[in-house]
Amino acid sequence: MQSELEQLLVLQDRDQKIKQIQSEVRTLPQQRAQLEGQLKASAAALDAAKHKAQQVEVEKKRLELDVGTRETSIGRLRTQQYETRKNEEFRAIGNEIERYQKEIQGIEDQELELMEQADKLKIETAEAEKQAAAGRESVARQMADLEAKGKALDERLQALTAERTEIASRVDEDVLDRFQRLFASKGDAAVVGLRHEVCTGCHMKLTPQTVHRVKGERELVSCEQCGRILYWED
Ligand SMILES: [Zn+2]
Repeated sequence: MQSELEQLLVLQDRDQKIKQIQSEVRTLPQQRAQLEGQLKASAAALDAAKHKAQQVEVEKKRLELDVGTRETSIGRLRTQQYETRKNEEFRAIGNEIERYQKEIQGIEDQELELMEQADKLKIETAEAEKQAAAGRESVARQMADLEAKGKALDERLQALTAERTEIASRVDEDVLDRFQRLFASKGDAAVVGLRHEVCTGCHMKLTPQTVHRVKGERELVSCEQCGRILYWED
């Protein structure tokens, strides 16, 4: 009976290790997705910086055109002013020219601001490019690490599963069935120690009769509270 309990404990150890590795394997896709997310985020930051710089260029061109149309208008007005003989009309045209010139001044101020912005954006874009490149490198490295980890876990899992199958083949079929059902339903352990008259699975105190039977080690005894198989620990 003792040897049967020992077999079950070894089996349980393998099952626990298998379970732990399986849960580690399950986290791999999420870790991969996280890295891909990092990559996307840094690419998006770079795109955003480039797009902003483009927008500023477009805006600069538009302002240049605005200045151009006003200069054309001023030229046309100057011809009209030159040709007129009426003082009133001369003054009116002069006022219009002045208005256009003021507008041009305002636009040129905006252009200056945009040029400053463009300079800043150039630096920002270069920085984003640098960060994106560094990010790609770091993600590639971490991806390779993850892949290596996945492979190692797979190998360990295969080895443990083979070992587990071998151990299970030596356990009595009914006992194995009882153990497997318990392990699946409890999630942590099917076989637990009895320490100071307490089941270490559910932490409930056991009856003296159960304690006596476990100590006797002549049969597989279950905890009255949680049903786990008990072994003598103290
Ligand atoms: Zn218990």
